[in-house]
Amino acid sequence: MYSVNNLINGQAVASDSGRSKPVFNPATGEQIGTVDLSSDVEIDQAVAAAKAALPGWAATSPAKRARVFFAYAALVREKADDIAREISREHGKTHDDALGEVTRALEVIEYACAAPELLKGEFSRNVGPGIDTHSERQPLGVVAGITPFNFPAMVPMWMFPMAIACGNTFVLKPSERDPSAATFVCELLMQAGLPAGVINVVQGDKGAVDALLDHPDVKAVSFVGSTPIAEYVYRRGTDAGKRVQALGGAKNHMIVMPDADMEQAADALMGAGYGSAGERCMAVSVAVPIGAETATRLVDALKPKVEALKIGPSSDETAEMGPVITAEAKERITGMIDSGVAQGAELVVDGRGFSLQGYEDGYFLGGSLFDKVTPDMDIYKTEIFGPVLAVLEPQNFDSAVKLINDHEYGNGTAIFTRDGDAARKFSSSIEVGMVGVNVPIPVPVAFHSFGGWKRSSFGSHGIYGPEAVHFYTRLKTTTTRWPEGISQGAVFTFPN
Ligand code: NAD
Repeated sequence: MYSVNNLINGQAVASDSGRSKPVFNPATGEQIGTVDLSSDVEIDQAVAAAKAALPGWAATSPAKRARVFFAYAALVREKADDIAREISREHGKTHDDALGEVTRALEVIEYACAAPELLKGEFSRNVGPGIDTHSERQPLGVVAGITPFNFPAMVPMWMFPMAIACGNTFVLKPSERDPSAATFVCELLMQAGLPAGVINVVQGDKGAVDALLDHPDVKAVSFVGSTPIAEYVYRRGTDAGKRVQALGGAKNHMIVMPDADMEQAADALMGAGYGSAGERCMAVSVAVPIGAETATRLVDALKPKVEALKIGPSSDETAEMGPVITAEAKERITGMIDSGVAQGAELVVDGRGFSLQGYEDGYFLGGSLFDKVTPDMDIYKTEIFGPVLAVLEPQNFDSAVKLINDHEYGNGTAIFTRDGDAARKFSSSIEVGMVGVNVPIPVPVAFHSFGGWKRSSFGSHGIYGPEAVHFYTRLKTTTTRWPEGISQGAVFTFPN
């Protein structure tokens, strides 16, 4: 049993709030640790440490800030296996999947190394007689990040490398369900040479989130999590005058056109639907074959693959998918499958009741596959966030596009086809923030920002990439004229 503590001003400190929560190994169902639930006073201490570190860090040259991230990238690469083990122990995902998460996070760190280039301003000489104008982007101040359980290391690293490289200081509140990996990667950043107080970690739940949202010294909040909480964080944070970006939940559809390579499409759906036990914001949870014949071929291709899914703990190198995060999540997902059956969908593969020998108390579920799902069913409307794929059969391409556009979520989507015209029409008319053409999980690389549409995201900035530079800085434009220019006396009109 271990205890996951705060990291404040460069020191690991145990909370004295007297409140904590258990942390479980999802593969065995055993409690393996506890996580502190910080008090308002401790949140205040973390924000105060970040505020104290701000003047020095904001005044550090972008090139020196970047050097810390060059060292950090090397350290994260060296410790990738250790980070992946931290992720899997509390999250349950397979080691390879956890390593993939570290790789994607590394790309953001590498992008943050470009801070001197990214923060370069603009300059115009002679905008008027003897007058020059320059624009620069200055840091906001103390920035907070609030992150979900499903990518315990990567999502925090979507945020803090860019925020810190831009000259801000940071307070992270990781998911209380798997807090160790986030805390570990922040400790590594300290080891890479970041001055004390520039990054701080506060453990906690709703109380910690509310304290950060209300804190007058927190200038901006990046949030990633479920839609109801994203909306709440956005409203409460913006009401308190902060800049907020809040990325929420999803229901991602993949259209399979009649001309698609069916084996390729089915394999893509397997990885995107069941990888990480469906607990990805970009998981494909709805397959949309066009036409009855395509639907039959697709379900026939999927059924044996879903039945053959290799499920196991992260220590099993052959496992394709691990357990879900908690006993409650397992129960909720099972309840959703029950509701699909009750509402008339055809359960082609039933993952309920799956048990793994030696891991009977783990939170494992088998893969489930539903056919004949209709838009009014709860399994279609809700983000299930588990290993459950629904097949819907709209009449044609146009009704498939309408189906996707009518859904409240708009995070990711994909089309599998050999028809360039259909793909082009799809990508231009679909109301979704991330689009894949023959790519099932189109999360962009670190130098392209992204964000969902509709109720999958609140706020106007995408995460990481160039938009992160805009989110984590404010624009200052200075217009300059030197003394001989103003010696002629006051001017009361704009120059013309
Ligand atoms: P969650 O919303 O339950 O929790 C996210 C964070 O909010 C956690 O740090 C948690 O402590 C905090 N929180 C929870 N309840 C709160 C409350 N009532 N008040 C204030 N704070 C609260 O999300 P989760 O279950 O950890 O993560 C899964 C969700 O995240 C899914 O909906 C998934 O789609 C979404 N997600 C989205 C993206 C994206 O890019 N859009 C990426 C990853 C995950």
